[in-house]
Amino acid sequence: MRLDIDWTRCDGHGLCATLLAGKVTLDDWGFPVIPRGEIAKADVPHARRAAAACPALALRLKGTGG
Ligand code: SF4
Repeated sequence: MRLDIDWTRCDGHGLCATLLAGKVTLDDWGFPVIPRGEIAKADVPHARRAAAACPALALRLKGTGG
């Protein structure tokens, strides 16, 4: 599974960087730097939680399995 972001929605709240600390970082403007490629299986629940918590509904998990 991969994390996908809709930049037209993201407001740079930074919540995803808090919920996915160490995976998602923030750039100089407070916008998230989303890891490319597959999310490690152990991180999928955290990624799912971050996507659900995004106040702008900008984050999505894409891929097989969910
Ligand atoms: S939580 Fe959502 S709106 Fe906030 S920085 Fe992350 S993707 Fe953007």
